[in-house]
Amino acid sequence: MVQPFVFKFGGASVKDAPAFQHVANILKSRWKNGLVVVVSASGDTTDHLERIIEKAYGEATYDTELADLESYHQAICASLFPADHGIFSQVANSFSQLKRKLGSDLRTEGKAFLYDQTIVFGELISTRILQEYLCMNGLFCVWQDARELIATDSTHKMGKVDWVLTMQRCRKYLSPKLEDYPVITQGFMGSDWLGNTTTLGREGSDFTAAILAVSLGAKSVSIWKDVAGILNGDPDLFPDAIKFDHLDFEEAAEMTYFGTKVIHPKTIKPLAKQKIPLYVKSFVNPDLPGTVIGSFEDHPKIPITIIKSKQVWITFRVRDLSKVGGFHYEEIFKTAKSFNWNINLLQSSAVTIHLVIDQPEQMPDPLPKQLLETFHVQKTENLRLVTVKNYDDTHEATYRNESKEVYLTEKSPNTLQMLLR
Ligand code: ASP
Ligand code: MG
Repeated sequence: MVQPFVFKFGGASVKDAPAFQHVANILKSRWKNGLVVVVSASGDTTDHLERIIEKAYGEATYDTELADLESYHQAICASLFPADHGIFSQVANSFSQLKRKLGSDLRTEGKAFLYDQTIVFGELISTRILQEYLCMNGLFCVWQDARELIATDSTHKMGKVDWVLTMQRCRKYLSPKLEDYPVITQGFMGSDWLGNTTTLGREGSDFTAAILAVSLGAKSVSIWKDVAGILNGDPDLFPDAIKFDHLDFEEAAEMTYFGTKVIHPKTIKPLAKQKIPLYVKSFVNPDLPGTVIGSFEDHPKIPITIIKSKQVWITFRVRDLSKVGGFHYEEIFKTAKSFNWNINLLQSSAVTIHLVIDQPEQMPDPLPKQLLETFHVQKTENLRLVTVKNYDDTHEATYRNESKEVYLTEKSPNTLQMLLR
């Protein structure tokens, strides 16, 4: 039996012809049965498709945008393949299918449904191009539709994984193929029990890699990125940020929770449970070691700074002071849950609860009546939340000095959070 291992390449790694060639080079020296390659849509294809779907749903025209997207993919193919290669008609067929779906009555099932049935064409096409290109260059591999593997519920745009069914499918359909060939498959997508396409949420391809690794009992996952590994701060803001060679699962999970963008937040937990190491590797310098996330108990406590912008601060102050103490957390949490707010900081005192959340796509206005009857609510937008893990005395002073205003400060023994203007 081969031992499976999973690689994931994001959109930037397949954004143009040289990028595809570079992926092939990385794979060449690592080519082995047991390899599963998870790939995202090329470049900004998903954003592009989102705009097209929006128009299709609103019954506006999108012909030019769709034609541009097709030309973009055909141009990549023209640089990679000889003119008589079958890939050109495959890509053209995919675009006709996509067009048919966008114009069909899928719309009547709602926007999220239409979204899932069509957004996945980005991944379906990029993986086809990669698979054909690898085969043409002597790296024989199989194209696998990820929807046959990843089982989810029917929550469109945010499918919840059915782990048991996914594992059964992977063992049944994927494991036997891996004995003979490496497999190329799509990130981000799955299917529900009716066979309809679902997706796992934007940037969900890292999560796909983790799901497949766990389902196969893989020996490792490698995510190929445009960074050298995981750093202790955003290198654009902290030029002297240092790269971690090792990072404990727990530390990495916390970093993604606080807003580090290198890996999708759902990726770490399933891997940690199975103790499957996650390598974050440089796409540009593939021979460098990158960062490995695993079980490392005595890891050094290096300060890690994560800055999230576009934060909304909401203050709930109890109106009826006789109710002080008997706090109505439930009402607040219910509201937060129903609007899908992502809470980054919570602070409470006798009469007030503060929430700091990511700016939602749409802020409910007004808030539910029941909530307004209980609380005075105040909202401030466009703030920054700084989180410093393993902080020392200098951090708080630094941020106090450099910002116009500090609204909230929250400290635990390991973590400092400050809400700033
Ligand atoms: N292509 C999808 C997105 O851009 C999934 C991914 O890249 O992870 O969100
Ligand atoms: Mg993408």
